Amino acid sequence: MAIVTGGAGGIGRAIAERLMAEGASLALWDVDAATAGATAAALRLVGKTPVEAFAVDVTAEASVDAATNATFERFGRVDLVVNNAGILGPVAPTWEHTPDAFRQVLEVNLVGTFLVCRALVPRLLQQDQPERCRIVNLASIQGKEGMPSAAAYVASKAGVIGLTKTLGKELARAGILVNCVTPSAVEGTGMATMITEERRAEIMGRIPMGRFVHLDEVASMVAWLGSLECTFSTGAVFDLSGGRATY
Ligand code: NAD
Repeated sequence: MAIVTGGAGGIGRAIAERLMAEGASLALWDVDAATAGATAAALRLVGKTPVEAFAVDVTAEASVDAATNATFERFGRVDLVVNNAGILGPVAPTWEHTPDAFRQVLEVNLVGTFLVCRALVPRLLQQDQPERCRIVNLASIQGKEGMPSAAAYVASKAGVIGLTKTLGKELARAGILVNCVTPSAVEGTGMATMITEERRAEIMGRIPMGRFVHLDEVASMVAWLGSLECTFSTGAVFDLSGGRATY
């Protein structure tokens, strides 16, 4: 059974579809309840496993706690948590970010990931066979490298990498493996299409393979990190950048 935050569309939906194809039951946690509900309904038509949508704002502790209780009530246990909900925020020089916009990106991408882990980890530890549990966080290549005109986003994703490394070490002996992926721009998503041609060319120019990563490539890596095939990697950062990453 897997929770996918931000599972209404984009990468979250692609991950949900992949996990469902591999037999997972799904809880789609998204602040956009209408789209999450429609996605859950669409997945139920094609899949064989239960799928439920939950209206959750990952920045709100009470909302995350309520969704945690509702998900355990509905499914009984949770094996995989994919922290995917995220926003891009301002595309502007650092000094032109408004404090509110900067804080909002940190709230959704970093604090949201923390609140979801904070609510779920004690429950994962309490259930039978916690060593079957996995956590996968969506970071970004930009969190490793930095990126002009994306200070809030970069800082939030660097934070997600640090959170992943720490939680991975904390949970290593319990066997709950915590990893993150660092995609470059993902073809077909808002973050790759709702940017100027100039920005797109600038990002493309940094990728040795000369293309953006595809949704199914991200879903595939997340599915492996979320599976019992992944046995000796934790607190680690998995590259999905077409050769852009240098460490
Ligand atoms: P998207 O905007 O298509 O989807 C994000 C989802 O998160 C949406 O369904 C949205 O409703 C949900 N969401 C936003 N705020 C929320 C909140 N407060 N609570 C709950 N849900 C919330 O984005 P995407 O392109 O699919 O990106 C998904 C993740 O992958 C993000 O963390 C993003 O930073 C990361 N990522 C994306 C790219 C890319 O090029 N698209 C590259 C690297 C990393």
